[in-house]
Parts: sequence; structure tokens; C-alpha cells
Amino acid sequence: MEIKIANQFVKTFREFLSSKGLRITNQRLAIFDAALQFNVHFTAEDLLDKARALDDSVSRATVYRSLPLLIESNLIRELDVGKDYKYYSANMDSKTFQAQVICVNCDKIFEIDAPFMEWYGKTVAEKLGLTVEGQKLQVTARCDRDCC
Ligand SMILES: [Zn+2]
Repeated sequence: MEIKIANQFVKTFREFLSSKGLRITNQRLAIFDAALQFNVHFTAEDLLDKARALDDSVSRATVYRSLPLLIESNLIRELDVGKDYKYYSANMDSKTFQAQVICVNCDKIFEIDAPFMEWYGKTVAEKLGLTVEGQKLQVTARCDRDCC
């Protein structure tokens, strides 16, 4: 990722915190910075480990309180794949709708742009006179034969 892009996201996060009347603390910035470093989906515990490596004063409670803020600011997305914990991913790319394909053997989560699905959800909701608030498409599948 280019530094320029990262700075732009940090700026967005700072502006979001200010707009909510929240203080821009080193802990919050460390958590946000850590979230941007993942190339794969991460859990709250993964985020805690990485944020602590950046700033050892980050507490588990701060991570759990910061996650809803990051989601609300649209900087990270929450993925519920039907487990007792959630996955997260940094929302760095476009707003293109993403479908998740989850391997039933190794639990790996693949994401793929699915702009057609977004159009489809909008179309069916509008037929009923409704406005789309959110939608998801999750496909369970199997990776190549040697994934496990
Ligand atoms: Zn697999």
C-alpha cells in the first residue's frame, strides 16, 4: 500500500473521531494502523496482538470499543461467517460489493467483487418499494484438493 493512501485513511479516521467528539488517542491510532496492516481477514484478537506490537498500552477493552467506531467510519468491514466471533477487513478499495466464498475445509475466506449482486439487491428491493440497507452473499465451497 502506498504511504499516500494510508495517510488519506488516517486523515479520514481523525476526521471521523473529531466529528463524534472523540479524542484522537495514540491507542486508537495504533489500533487503526494495525487494522490497515492486515492483508487477510482478522479477528479482534489478531487486531489486539498487532496493535499491542505498535503500542503496548493498548488494552483489549480499547480494541473492542474501537471496532464499532472503525466499522461506523466505513474504514473496516465486519464479516459474519456464522462463527462465534467476527472477522474484519480493512475497507481500502472501492465500494464495490464483495461476495464471500468460504472454504468448508480450511475456513479460508475469499472475497470477490460482485457488482452484479449489488444491482440485483437494489432492483428487487425497489420492486417492493424498499430501500436497501445492506446485503450479503456468502458461498460455501471447497479450495483445491490440498487445502487441508
Ligand atoms: Zn480450503
